[in-house]
Amino acid sequence: MKLKLAIQKSGRLHDDSIRLLKECGIDISNGVNKLKAEATNFPIEVYFLRDDDIPQYVEDAVADIGFVGENVVYEKRKKVTVVEKLGFGKCRLSMAVRRGEEYTDASFLNGKKIATSYPVIVENFLKEKNVIAEIHEISGSVEIAPGIGLADAICDLVSSGSTLFMNGLKEAETILQSQAVLIRNNGLEDAKTQLLNRLLFRIQSVKKAKNNKYILLNAPNDKLAEIIALLPGMKSPTVLPLADPGWSSVHSVLNENEFWDIIEQLKAAGAQGILVVPIEKMIV
Ligand code: ATP
Ligand code: ZN
Repeated sequence: MKLKLAIQKSGRLHDDSIRLLKECGIDISNGVNKLKAEATNFPIEVYFLRDDDIPQYVEDAVADIGFVGENVVYEKRKKVTVVEKLGFGKCRLSMAVRRGEEYTDASFLNGKKIATSYPVIVENFLKEKNVIAEIHEISGSVEIAPGIGLADAICDLVSSGSTLFMNGLKEAETILQSQAVLIRNNGLEDAKTQLLNRLLFRIQSVKKAKNNKYILLNAPNDKLAEIIALLPGMKSPTVLPLADPGWSSVHSVLNENEFWDIIEQLKAAGAQGILVVPIEKMIV
């Protein structure tokens, strides 16, 4: 039995999807022109598809699970379950208007034409804001629509905003923050659910490791208690004597969010020779 995973064939999510699998210890022979590939060391089969088609394939159980952007999941409205955020493919879906225009809130859009590839998400946004506007669905190059008089505003994916800028537009309001997620078929049989849980365990270990750093530092023994109190660690920090009798080496794990704060406090408390090392996997 194999778990069938759908990922993007080529595009912005492809490389990161393959990388995540690799970090989970799953090697697939990556054939760009192939429809599918098998892992050699995990019971998984990978299908390469257009991202827009992935929710449908997962709903229909052609694939058991998929890696796809939340933006696509919400637009397609298929009966699938979002299981886990994957931490890559981050972008936002935003309203944009001509640069000279004054957009204070969504009411600006009343009576206007909006060009987008995300009609479902935009329609929901307008409903929620009690705005009546006309939606023009176009599949690509949405950003040129205002320039050619097709629309007054657009709703499109943005990461840096440079595409908007080049087309005389400005970002007016973010309507969805998105990243790649793992989706699953709703009727997955038990044996496949077990395989999915094994994969999820690995994904979570990789994600956790990315959010944490291993830290080593030297502490004068008379400051040890103060320094240890600053460190969270998985259980408690490891403390080893240095060759110099007045000093100890302290090892611990720090979370990215609190990292710089704690480093500053450690320095102030007398820690020296602080080393910070990436963690590859974190099993807790
Ligand atoms: P496909 O041929 O698979 O349909 P595509 O052209 O629709 O590809 P890409 O441009 O490769 O798709 O984007 C895939 C996904 O990457 C998007 O749906 C979104 O979730 C994510 N993404 C991340 N950053 C951006 C960005 N700056 N612009 C567009 N999409 C982004
Ligand atoms: Zn697509």
